[in-house]
Amino acid sequence: MQRVAVRCCVAGGGPAGVMTGLLLARAGVDVLVLEKHADFFRDFRGDTIHPSTLELMHELGSLDDLLKLPHQEAHRMAFQFGDLKGVVADFDRAKLRYPFIAFMPQWDFLDFLARRASRYPTFSLKMSAEVTGVIEENGRIAGVTVTTPRGPLEVRADLVIAADGRTSLVREKSGLQVEERGAPMDVLWFGIERRPSDPDETMGRFVPGCLFIAINRRDYWQCGYVIPKGSFDSIRARSLDAFRQTIAGAFPEVADRVGQLDDWKKIKLLTVQVNRLKRWYRPGLLCIGDAAHAMSPVGGVGINLAVQDAVAASNILAEALAERRTTIDDLAKVQKRREFPMRMTQAFQILVQNRALARALGGPLGKPPLVMRLLERYPALRSLPARWIGLGVRPEHIQTAPRWPEKEPPVQA
Ligand SMILES: Cc1cc2nc3c(=O)[nH]c(=O)nc-3n(C[C@H](O)[C@H](O)[C@H](O)COP(=O)(O)OP(=O)(O)OC[C@H]3O[C@@H](n4cnc5c(N)ncnc54)[C@H](O)[C@@H]3O)c2cc1C
Repeated sequence: MQRVAVRCCVAGGGPAGVMTGLLLARAGVDVLVLEKHADFFRDFRGDTIHPSTLELMHELGSLDDLLKLPHQEAHRMAFQFGDLKGVVADFDRAKLRYPFIAFMPQWDFLDFLARRASRYPTFSLKMSAEVTGVIEENGRIAGVTVTTPRGPLEVRADLVIAADGRTSLVREKSGLQVEERGAPMDVLWFGIERRPSDPDETMGRFVPGCLFIAINRRDYWQCGYVIPKGSFDSIRARSLDAFRQTIAGAFPEVADRVGQLDDWKKIKLLTVQVNRLKRWYRPGLLCIGDAAHAMSPVGGVGINLAVQDAVAASNILAEALAERRTTIDDLAKVQKRREFPMRMTQAFQILVQNRALARALGGPLGKPPLVMRLLERYPALRSLPARWIGLGVRPEHIQTAPRWPEKEPPVQA
Protein backbone atom coordinates (compact mmCIF):
# COMPACT_ATOMS: atom_id res chain seq x y z
CA MET A 1 0.00 0.00 0.00
CA GLN A 2 1.40 3.37 -1.06
CA ARG A 3 0.42 6.37 1.05
CA VAL A 4 0.46 10.07 0.21
CA ALA A 5 -0.77 13.17 2.00
CA VAL A 6 -1.91 16.35 0.24
CA ARG A 7 -3.84 19.47 1.17
CA CYS A 8 -6.57 18.77 -1.35
CA CYS A 9 -7.45 15.58 -3.19
CA VAL A 10 -9.83 15.91 -6.15
CA ALA A 11 -11.64 12.72 -7.19
CA GLY A 12 -12.41 12.86 -10.93
CA GLY A 13 -10.63 14.53 -13.82
CA GLY A 14 -13.59 15.97 -15.73
CA PRO A 15 -14.16 19.70 -16.32
CA ALA A 16 -14.91 20.37 -12.63
CA GLY A 17 -11.98 18.35 -11.29
CA VAL A 18 -9.25 19.48 -13.68
CA MET A 19 -10.27 23.14 -13.44
CA THR A 20 -10.29 22.92 -9.62
CA GLY A 21 -6.84 21.32 -9.71
CA LEU A 22 -5.49 24.02 -11.99
CA LEU A 23 -6.88 26.92 -9.96
CA LEU A 24 -5.85 25.57 -6.57
CA ALA A 25 -2.35 24.72 -7.79
CA ARG A 26 -2.06 28.18 -9.36
CA ALA A 27 -2.92 29.65 -5.95
CA GLY A 28 -0.16 27.56 -4.33
CA VAL A 29 -2.29 24.75 -2.85
CA ASP A 30 -0.83 21.26 -2.95
CA VAL A 31 -3.47 19.36 -4.96
CA LEU A 32 -3.76 15.85 -6.38
CA VAL A 33 -6.36 15.03 -9.05
CA LEU A 34 -7.27 11.34 -9.45
CA GLU A 35 -8.81 10.16 -12.73
CA LYS A 36 -9.86 6.58 -13.26
CA HIS A 37 -9.32 6.56 -17.03
CA ALA A 38 -5.87 6.22 -18.58
CA ASP A 39 -6.43 9.34 -20.71
CA PHE A 40 -9.07 11.98 -21.38
CA PHE A 41 -10.10 10.37 -24.64
CA ARG A 42 -13.58 8.86 -24.43
CA ASP A 43 -17.03 8.95 -25.94
CA PHE A 44 -18.64 12.24 -26.77
CA ARG A 45 -20.11 13.77 -23.64
CA GLY A 46 -20.45 17.42 -24.44
CA ASP A 47 -17.85 19.44 -26.26
CA THR A 48 -19.04 22.93 -25.47
CA ILE A 49 -16.85 25.74 -24.16
CA HIS A 50 -19.18 28.56 -23.22
CA PRO A 51 -18.51 32.32 -23.35
CA SER A 52 -18.17 32.32 -19.54
CA THR A 53 -15.44 29.66 -19.71
CA LEU A 54 -13.76 31.56 -22.54
CA GLU A 55 -13.67 34.59 -20.22
CA LEU A 56 -12.08 32.50 -17.49
CA MET A 57 -9.46 31.27 -19.94
CA HIS A 58 -8.82 34.91 -20.82
CA GLU A 59 -8.43 35.71 -17.11
CA LEU A 60 -5.87 32.89 -16.94
CA GLY A 61 -4.03 34.34 -19.93
CA SER A 62 -4.58 31.09 -21.87
CA LEU A 63 -7.38 31.91 -24.26
CA ASP A 64 -5.25 32.56 -27.34
CA ASP A 65 -3.45 29.26 -26.91
CA LEU A 66 -6.71 27.40 -26.30
CA LEU A 67 -8.29 28.78 -29.44
CA LYS A 68 -5.31 27.62 -31.50
CA LEU A 69 -6.67 24.10 -31.00
CA PRO A 70 -9.13 22.91 -33.65
CA HIS A 71 -12.64 24.07 -32.78
CA GLN A 72 -15.82 25.44 -34.33
CA GLU A 73 -17.59 28.61 -33.26
CA ALA A 74 -21.38 28.77 -33.04
CA HIS A 75 -22.67 32.36 -32.93
CA ARG A 76 -26.33 31.37 -33.17
CA MET A 77 -28.54 28.44 -32.33
CA ALA A 78 -31.47 27.81 -34.61
CA PHE A 79 -34.72 25.97 -33.92
CA GLN A 80 -37.58 24.57 -35.90
CA PHE A 81 -40.95 23.71 -34.37
CA GLY A 82 -43.12 22.12 -37.03
CA ASP A 83 -43.08 24.72 -39.81
CA LEU A 84 -41.86 27.59 -37.63
CA LYS A 85 -38.14 28.26 -38.08
CA GLY A 86 -36.15 30.77 -36.08
CA VAL A 87 -33.14 31.56 -33.94
CA VAL A 88 -33.38 30.65 -30.29
CA ALA A 89 -30.10 32.20 -29.12
CA ASP A 90 -28.06 34.89 -30.84
CA PHE A 91 -24.71 35.34 -29.08
CA ASP A 92 -23.73 38.30 -31.26
CA ARG A 93 -26.66 40.27 -29.83
CA ALA A 94 -25.91 39.39 -26.22
CA LYS A 95 -23.07 41.88 -25.53
CA LEU A 96 -20.63 39.14 -24.60
CA ARG A 97 -16.88 39.58 -24.73
CA TYR A 98 -16.66 36.24 -26.57
CA PRO A 99 -19.95 35.92 -28.46
CA PHE A 100 -19.83 32.26 -29.40
CA ILE A 101 -19.79 28.73 -28.08
CA ALA A 102 -16.55 27.00 -29.01
CA PHE A 103 -17.10 23.35 -29.88
CA MET A 104 -13.94 21.45 -29.06
CA PRO A 105 -13.54 17.77 -28.17
CA GLN A 106 -13.71 17.60 -24.39
CA TRP A 107 -10.48 15.55 -24.25
CA ASP A 108 -8.60 18.38 -26.00
CA PHE A 109 -9.95 20.90 -23.51
CA LEU A 110 -9.13 18.72 -20.49
CA ASP A 111 -5.72 17.90 -21.86
CA PHE A 112 -5.05 21.61 -22.36
CA LEU A 113 -6.09 22.44 -18.77
CA ALA A 114 -4.02 19.58 -17.37
CA ARG A 115 -0.94 20.60 -19.35
CA ARG A 116 -1.31 24.17 -18.16
CA ALA A 117 -1.78 23.05 -14.55
CA SER A 118 1.27 20.81 -14.69
CA ARG A 119 3.44 23.93 -14.92
CA TYR A 120 2.74 24.47 -11.22
CA PRO A 121 4.83 22.40 -8.80
CA THR A 122 1.85 22.01 -6.45
CA PHE A 123 -0.23 20.21 -9.11
CA SER A 124 -0.30 16.44 -9.54
CA LEU A 125 -2.56 14.40 -11.76
CA LYS A 126 -2.73 10.62 -11.51
CA MET A 127 -4.41 8.85 -14.41
CA SER A 128 -5.66 5.23 -14.14
CA ALA A 129 -6.31 6.02 -10.48
CA GLU A 130 -9.78 4.92 -9.47
CA VAL A 131 -11.18 6.05 -6.14
CA THR A 132 -12.75 3.02 -4.48
CA GLY A 133 -13.72 4.34 -1.08
CA VAL A 134 -13.45 7.11 1.48
CA ILE A 135 -11.43 7.12 4.69
CA GLU A 136 -13.62 8.29 7.52
CA GLU A 137 -12.25 9.28 10.91
CA ASN A 138 -14.35 10.66 13.76
CA GLY A 139 -17.14 11.70 11.40
CA ARG A 140 -14.75 13.45 9.02
CA ILE A 141 -13.69 12.40 5.52
CA ALA A 142 -9.92 12.19 5.91
CA GLY A 143 -9.00 10.84 2.48
CA VAL A 144 -9.74 8.23 -0.17
CA THR A 145 -8.63 4.76 -1.12
CA VAL A 146 -7.53 4.30 -4.71
CA THR A 147 -6.60 1.47 -7.06
CA THR A 148 -3.78 2.14 -9.51
CA PRO A 149 -1.85 -0.09 -11.93
CA ARG A 150 0.98 -0.04 -9.37
CA GLY A 151 -1.26 -1.31 -6.57
CA PRO A 152 -3.48 0.22 -3.91
CA LEU A 153 -2.95 3.79 -2.81
CA GLU A 154 -4.21 5.70 0.23
CA VAL A 155 -4.51 9.47 -0.13
CA ARG A 156 -4.95 11.56 3.00
CA ALA A 157 -6.11 15.13 2.54
CA ASP A 158 -7.32 18.15 4.50
CA LEU A 159 -10.13 18.28 1.96
CA VAL A 160 -11.50 15.79 -0.57
CA ILE A 161 -13.35 17.37 -3.48
CA ALA A 162 -15.73 14.95 -5.20
CA ALA A 163 -15.80 15.88 -8.89
CA ASP A 164 -16.44 12.32 -10.04
CA GLY A 165 -19.58 13.03 -12.02
CA ARG A 166 -23.20 12.11 -11.77
CA THR A 167 -22.58 8.54 -10.60
CA SER A 168 -20.21 9.83 -7.92
CA LEU A 169 -18.83 7.04 -5.78
CA VAL A 170 -17.39 9.47 -3.26
CA ARG A 171 -20.80 11.05 -2.73
CA GLU A 172 -22.43 7.63 -2.35
CA LYS A 173 -19.82 6.36 0.13
CA SER A 174 -20.17 9.57 2.13
CA GLY A 175 -23.91 9.10 2.55
CA LEU A 176 -24.95 12.47 1.09
CA GLN A 177 -28.59 12.57 0.05
CA VAL A 178 -29.61 13.06 -3.58
CA GLU A 179 -32.91 14.69 -4.53
CA GLU A 180 -34.21 13.51 -7.94
CA ARG A 181 -36.01 16.13 -10.04
CA GLY A 182 -37.04 13.80 -12.89
CA ALA A 183 -36.70 14.03 -16.65
CA PRO A 184 -39.16 12.81 -19.29
CA MET A 185 -36.49 11.95 -21.83
CA ASP A 186 -33.23 10.25 -22.74
CA VAL A 187 -30.93 11.23 -25.61
CA LEU A 188 -29.35 9.10 -28.34
CA TRP A 189 -26.08 10.62 -29.62
CA PHE A 190 -24.38 9.74 -32.89
CA GLY A 191 -22.34 11.29 -35.69
CA ILE A 192 -23.22 11.66 -39.39
CA GLU A 193 -20.89 12.98 -42.07
CA ARG A 194 -21.36 16.67 -42.93
CA ARG A 195 -20.91 17.99 -46.46
CA PRO A 196 -20.12 21.58 -47.53
CA SER A 197 -23.58 21.91 -49.11
CA ASP A 198 -25.30 21.17 -45.76
CA PRO A 199 -26.73 23.99 -43.65
CA ASP A 200 -24.30 25.82 -41.36
CA GLU A 201 -26.30 26.25 -38.24
CA THR A 202 -26.36 24.25 -35.08
CA MET A 203 -30.04 23.55 -34.58
CA GLY A 204 -32.79 21.93 -32.56
CA ARG A 205 -35.76 20.68 -34.53
CA PHE A 206 -39.08 19.67 -32.98
CA VAL A 207 -40.90 17.13 -35.13
CA PRO A 208 -43.87 15.02 -34.00
CA GLY A 209 -42.59 12.41 -31.57
CA CYS A 210 -39.10 13.81 -31.11
CA LEU A 211 -36.66 16.65 -30.74
CA PHE A 212 -33.69 16.34 -33.05
CA ILE A 213 -30.45 18.23 -32.37
CA ALA A 214 -27.71 18.73 -34.97
CA ILE A 215 -24.42 20.34 -33.96
CA ASN A 216 -22.17 21.52 -36.77
CA ARG A 217 -18.71 19.98 -36.17
CA ARG A 218 -17.41 21.05 -39.60
CA ASP A 219 -16.86 17.61 -41.16
CA TYR A 220 -19.59 15.79 -39.23
CA TRP A 221 -22.89 16.45 -37.50
CA GLN A 222 -23.03 15.57 -33.84
CA CYS A 223 -26.65 14.49 -33.67
CA GLY A 224 -28.85 14.12 -30.63
CA TYR A 225 -32.19 12.37 -30.87
CA VAL A 226 -34.34 13.02 -27.81
CA ILE A 227 -36.61 10.08 -26.98
CA PRO A 228 -39.20 9.41 -24.27
CA LYS A 229 -37.50 8.16 -21.11
CA GLY A 230 -36.81 4.43 -21.13
CA SER A 231 -37.88 3.92 -24.76
CA PHE A 232 -34.47 2.95 -26.22
CA ASP A 233 -35.14 -0.80 -25.90
CA SER A 234 -38.37 -0.54 -27.88
CA ILE A 235 -36.63 1.62 -30.54
CA ARG A 236 -33.93 -1.03 -30.90
CA ALA A 237 -36.55 -3.77 -31.07
CA ARG A 238 -38.10 -2.05 -34.12
CA SER A 239 -34.86 -2.46 -36.19
CA LEU A 240 -31.99 -0.23 -37.16
CA ASP A 241 -33.52 0.46 -40.54
CA ALA A 242 -36.66 1.89 -38.94
CA PHE A 243 -34.43 4.11 -36.78
CA ARG A 244 -32.51 5.33 -39.85
CA GLN A 245 -35.81 6.22 -41.55
CA THR A 246 -36.88 8.22 -38.50
CA ILE A 247 -33.60 10.15 -38.61
CA ALA A 248 -33.98 10.77 -42.35
CA GLY A 249 -37.47 12.17 -41.66
CA ALA A 250 -36.26 14.46 -38.86
CA PHE A 251 -33.15 15.64 -40.73
CA PRO A 252 -33.86 15.26 -44.49
CA GLU A 253 -30.65 17.16 -45.34
CA VAL A 254 -28.65 14.01 -44.45
CA ALA A 255 -31.17 11.40 -45.61
CA ASP A 256 -28.67 10.14 -48.22
CA ARG A 257 -26.16 9.36 -45.44
CA VAL A 258 -28.20 7.69 -42.71
CA GLY A 259 -26.83 4.35 -43.99
CA GLN A 260 -23.66 5.25 -42.08
CA LEU A 261 -25.58 4.25 -38.96
CA ASP A 262 -25.02 0.57 -39.65
CA ASP A 263 -24.48 -0.65 -36.10
CA TRP A 264 -26.26 0.15 -32.84
CA LYS A 265 -22.78 0.53 -31.32
CA LYS A 266 -22.52 3.85 -33.17
CA ILE A 267 -25.51 5.14 -31.21
CA LYS A 268 -24.88 6.06 -27.57
CA LEU A 269 -27.61 6.34 -24.99
CA LEU A 270 -27.48 9.24 -22.52
CA THR A 271 -29.84 8.42 -19.66
CA VAL A 272 -30.93 11.88 -18.63
CA GLN A 273 -30.93 12.63 -14.92
CA VAL A 274 -31.75 15.85 -13.19
CA ASN A 275 -30.87 15.78 -9.52
CA ARG A 276 -29.05 17.63 -6.77
CA LEU A 277 -27.61 17.06 -3.37
CA LYS A 278 -29.40 18.53 -0.36
CA ARG A 279 -26.02 19.20 1.23
CA TRP A 280 -22.93 19.40 -0.92
CA TYR A 281 -20.48 18.86 1.93
CA ARG A 282 -19.51 17.06 5.10
CA PRO A 283 -16.50 17.72 7.30
CA GLY A 284 -13.52 17.05 5.02
CA LEU A 285 -15.58 16.69 1.83
CA LEU A 286 -17.12 18.95 -0.82
CA CYS A 287 -19.02 17.82 -3.94
CA ILE A 288 -19.05 19.97 -7.07
CA GLY A 289 -20.12 19.68 -10.72
CA ASP A 290 -22.33 16.78 -11.72
CA ALA A 291 -21.47 15.05 -8.43
CA ALA A 292 -23.44 17.81 -6.67
CA HIS A 293 -26.09 18.36 -9.36
CA ALA A 294 -26.68 16.43 -12.60
CA MET A 295 -28.14 18.87 -15.12
CA SER A 296 -30.64 18.25 -17.91
CA PRO A 297 -29.12 18.53 -21.41
CA VAL A 298 -31.50 21.47 -22.10
CA GLY A 299 -29.26 24.37 -23.12
CA GLY A 300 -26.12 22.20 -22.89
CA VAL A 301 -24.92 23.93 -19.72
CA GLY A 302 -23.59 21.04 -17.58
CA ILE A 303 -19.93 21.71 -18.37
CA ASN A 304 -20.41 25.41 -17.79
CA LEU A 305 -21.86 24.86 -14.33
CA ALA A 306 -19.14 22.34 -13.47
CA VAL A 307 -16.44 24.88 -14.39
CA GLN A 308 -18.21 27.66 -12.51
CA ASP A 309 -18.38 25.47 -9.38
CA ALA A 310 -14.64 24.89 -9.69
CA VAL A 311 -13.96 28.64 -9.83
CA ALA A 312 -16.21 29.39 -6.85
CA ALA A 313 -14.66 26.56 -4.82
CA SER A 314 -11.13 27.75 -5.47
CA ASN A 315 -12.02 31.41 -4.84
CA ILE A 316 -13.55 30.54 -1.49
CA LEU A 317 -11.20 27.78 -0.35
CA ALA A 318 -7.71 28.41 -1.74
CA GLU A 319 -6.45 30.66 1.04
CA ALA A 320 -7.93 28.56 3.83
CA LEU A 321 -6.51 25.38 2.28
CA ALA A 322 -3.07 26.94 1.90
CA GLU A 323 -3.13 27.96 5.57
CA ARG A 324 -4.69 24.66 6.75
CA ARG A 325 -7.70 26.31 8.34
CA THR A 326 -10.60 25.15 6.15
CA THR A 327 -13.81 24.96 8.16
CA ILE A 328 -17.23 23.48 7.50
CA ASP A 329 -18.49 27.07 7.12
CA ASP A 330 -16.13 27.56 4.17
CA LEU A 331 -17.61 24.48 2.49
CA ALA A 332 -21.12 25.77 3.19
CA LYS A 333 -20.16 29.05 1.51
CA VAL A 334 -19.36 27.21 -1.73
CA GLN A 335 -22.80 25.57 -1.74
CA LYS A 336 -24.44 28.89 -0.89
CA ARG A 337 -22.63 30.62 -3.73
CA ARG A 338 -23.45 28.00 -6.38
CA GLU A 339 -26.82 26.65 -5.25
CA PHE A 340 -28.87 29.58 -6.50
CA PRO A 341 -27.47 29.48 -10.07
CA MET A 342 -27.89 25.70 -10.13
CA ARG A 343 -31.49 25.82 -8.86
CA MET A 344 -32.47 28.59 -11.29
CA THR A 345 -30.92 26.68 -14.17
CA GLN A 346 -32.60 23.41 -13.25
CA ALA A 347 -35.95 25.18 -12.76
CA PHE A 348 -35.72 26.63 -16.27
CA GLN A 349 -34.61 23.30 -17.73
CA ILE A 350 -37.52 21.50 -16.09
CA LEU A 351 -39.91 24.13 -17.48
CA VAL A 352 -38.60 23.55 -21.01
CA GLN A 353 -38.69 19.78 -20.51
CA ASN A 354 -42.27 19.83 -19.38
CA ARG A 355 -43.63 22.50 -21.73
CA ALA A 356 -41.86 21.93 -25.05
CA LEU A 357 -40.12 18.57 -24.87
CA ALA A 358 -42.82 16.47 -23.24
CA ARG A 359 -45.26 17.89 -25.81
CA ALA A 360 -43.04 17.04 -28.78
CA LEU A 361 -42.39 13.55 -27.43
CA GLY A 362 -46.07 13.01 -26.75
CA GLY A 363 -47.27 13.10 -30.39
CA PRO A 364 -48.73 15.89 -32.55
CA LEU A 365 -46.88 19.15 -31.98
CA GLY A 366 -49.74 21.61 -32.05
CA LYS A 367 -49.03 25.34 -31.94
CA PRO A 368 -45.41 26.41 -31.25
CA PRO A 369 -44.90 27.54 -27.63
CA LEU A 370 -45.38 31.28 -27.08
CA VAL A 371 -41.71 31.80 -26.31
CA MET A 372 -40.70 30.47 -29.74
CA ARG A 373 -43.21 32.68 -31.47
CA LEU A 374 -41.89 35.69 -29.57
CA LEU A 375 -38.27 34.85 -30.40
CA GLU A 376 -39.16 34.53 -34.05
CA ARG A 377 -41.00 37.86 -34.05
CA TYR A 378 -38.69 40.00 -31.89
CA PRO A 379 -35.02 39.24 -32.73
CA ALA A 380 -33.76 41.42 -29.83
CA LEU A 381 -35.17 38.82 -27.41
CA ARG A 382 -32.68 36.26 -28.73
CA SER A 383 -29.99 37.85 -26.61
CA LEU A 384 -31.70 36.56 -23.44
CA PRO A 385 -31.34 32.80 -24.09
CA ALA A 386 -27.86 33.57 -25.44
CA ARG A 387 -26.85 35.15 -22.13
CA TRP A 388 -28.48 32.34 -20.14
CA ILE A 389 -26.70 29.65 -22.16
CA GLY A 390 -23.47 31.61 -22.62
CA LEU A 391 -22.86 33.05 -19.17
CA GLY A 392 -25.36 31.26 -16.95
CA VAL A 393 -26.75 32.72 -13.77
CA ARG A 394 -24.17 34.59 -11.68
CA PRO A 395 -20.99 33.94 -13.70
CA GLU A 396 -17.83 33.51 -11.65
CA HIS A 397 -14.49 35.26 -12.09
CA ILE A 398 -11.10 34.14 -10.85
CA GLN A 399 -10.29 35.99 -7.63
CA THR A 400 -7.25 34.07 -6.48
CA ALA A 401 -3.84 35.59 -7.05
CA PRO A 402 -1.30 33.37 -8.79
CA ARG A 403 1.27 32.00 -6.35
CA TRP A 404 3.76 31.39 -9.19
CA PRO A 405 4.92 33.84 -11.84
CA GLU A 406 2.47 33.44 -14.72
CA LYS A 407 4.88 34.00 -17.59
CA GLU A 408 7.78 31.85 -16.47
CA PRO A 409 6.40 29.15 -14.23
CA PRO A 410 8.89 27.05 -12.32
CA VAL A 411 9.90 23.86 -14.07
CA GLN A 412 8.58 20.75 -12.36
CA ALA A 413 11.12 18.43 -10.77
C1 LIG B 1 -23.51 12.28 -23.97
C2 LIG B 1 -23.42 13.55 -23.18
C3 LIG B 1 -23.54 14.77 -23.82
C4 LIG B 1 -23.44 15.96 -23.10
N1 LIG B 1 -23.52 17.14 -23.75
C5 LIG B 1 -23.25 18.30 -23.08
C6 LIG B 1 -23.13 19.54 -23.77
O1 LIG B 1 -23.26 19.60 -24.99
N2 LIG B 1 -22.85 20.65 -23.05
C7 LIG B 1 -22.70 20.60 -21.68
O2 LIG B 1 -22.43 21.64 -21.07
N3 LIG B 1 -22.81 19.45 -21.02
C8 LIG B 1 -23.06 18.29 -21.69
N4 LIG B 1 -23.12 17.12 -21.01
C9 LIG B 1 -22.98 17.13 -19.56
C10 LIG B 1 -21.54 17.35 -19.19
O3 LIG B 1 -20.72 16.38 -19.81
C11 LIG B 1 -21.40 17.29 -17.67
O4 LIG B 1 -22.34 18.15 -17.06
C12 LIG B 1 -20.02 17.74 -17.26
O5 LIG B 1 -19.04 16.96 -17.91
C13 LIG B 1 -19.87 17.61 -15.75
O6 LIG B 1 -18.52 17.78 -15.43
P1 LIG B 1 -17.94 17.09 -14.11
O7 LIG B 1 -16.49 17.37 -14.13
O8 LIG B 1 -18.75 17.46 -12.95
O9 LIG B 1 -18.20 15.52 -14.32
P2 LIG B 1 -17.71 14.54 -15.46
O10 LIG B 1 -17.48 15.24 -16.72
O11 LIG B 1 -18.65 13.39 -15.45
O12 LIG B 1 -16.28 14.05 -14.95
C14 LIG B 1 -16.15 13.14 -13.90
C15 LIG B 1 -14.79 12.49 -14.04
O13 LIG B 1 -14.57 11.67 -12.92
C16 LIG B 1 -14.04 10.43 -13.34
N5 LIG B 1 -14.41 9.45 -12.34
C17 LIG B 1 -15.63 8.94 -12.09
N6 LIG B 1 -15.57 8.09 -11.06
C18 LIG B 1 -14.29 8.08 -10.64
C19 LIG B 1 -13.61 7.39 -9.61
N7 LIG B 1 -14.24 6.53 -8.79
N8 LIG B 1 -12.29 7.60 -9.45
C20 LIG B 1 -11.61 8.47 -10.27
N9 LIG B 1 -12.21 9.12 -11.27
C21 LIG B 1 -13.54 8.95 -11.45
C22 LIG B 1 -14.68 10.19 -14.69
O14 LIG B 1 -13.91 9.28 -15.47
C23 LIG B 1 -14.69 11.59 -15.27
O15 LIG B 1 -13.51 11.89 -15.97
C24 LIG B 1 -23.25 15.91 -21.70
C25 LIG B 1 -23.14 14.69 -21.04
C26 LIG B 1 -23.20 13.51 -21.79
C27 LIG B 1 -23.05 12.19 -21.06
